Amino acid sequence: MKVRHRVKSIFLWVFLTFVALAFSLPGNTASFLTDLELNLEKQIGQNSYESIIAQMTVVELPEAETERLNNIFNRLVQVCSRRKELKFSLTVVEDDSVNAFALPAGYIFVHTGLLTYVQSDGELAGVLAHEIAHVDRKHGMNAIKRQLGLGLLLQIFLKDAGDQVARIGNLAINLTQLGYGREAEYEADRYGVYFMERAGYPRTEILNFWHRLVGESGGGENPAILQLFSTQPPTAERIKRIKEIPTPTQ
Ligand SMILES: [Zn+2]
Repeated sequence: MKVRHRVKSIFLWVFLTFVALAFSLPGNTASFLTDLELNLEKQIGQNSYESIIAQMTVVELPEAETERLNNIFNRLVQVCSRRKELKFSLTVVEDDSVNAFALPAGYIFVHTGLLTYVQSDGELAGVLAHEIAHVDRKHGMNAIKRQLGLGLLLQIFLKDAGDQVARIGNLAINLTQLGYGREAEYEADRYGVYFMERAGYPRTEILNFWHRLVGESGGGENPAILQLFSTQPPTAERIKRIKEIPTPTQ
């Protein structure tokens, strides 16, 4: 038992040294690791996606409504830098709260409560763009790496330990629900505005959405409305920053 433990420690040490070395080297090794990390992201994403659809009720919208939603979504994905390496998907789930969330590797979810709350395609585009930006900027994966360390993550992946990946999938869901922190939210707002404007929706749409939410949540007592806020930076500060983001050059 002891010997096994020792062998394991040595393996881990060698592995971590390899990872550290690989990151300091340009070229093939680094790109090998990038591929490895991307595969890991896809596996974690798929795993957490499957858990979510097992827990929540997936909603099939009428055909015209699905088409409208997919059009908005695809326009946004087209302008996102990771569109070629990932397969982005949009899933509608039954929940009255005004919310949307993103899992690693491009699995975006919207609540039915958000769909009934938005007043235009542009407002919906603004929220979706923010979620796509979380994936584009790898906020989910970065949060997982911060929690576990890349060395451990890659080790699990290389050992092909399915149950461990499932546990990381659950961690991904928890982190999504907790939010990725203030700076990540500001960054997703910034890139979200960039994506929505590149896709042809003015930022006034997402500003209208935020203003209306703030107005309606009043003192902040309505939990259905506040879901989207609970883990976010102060809304007034977000609105101020969104207004200041420079317009992207086409
Ligand atoms: Zn966010």
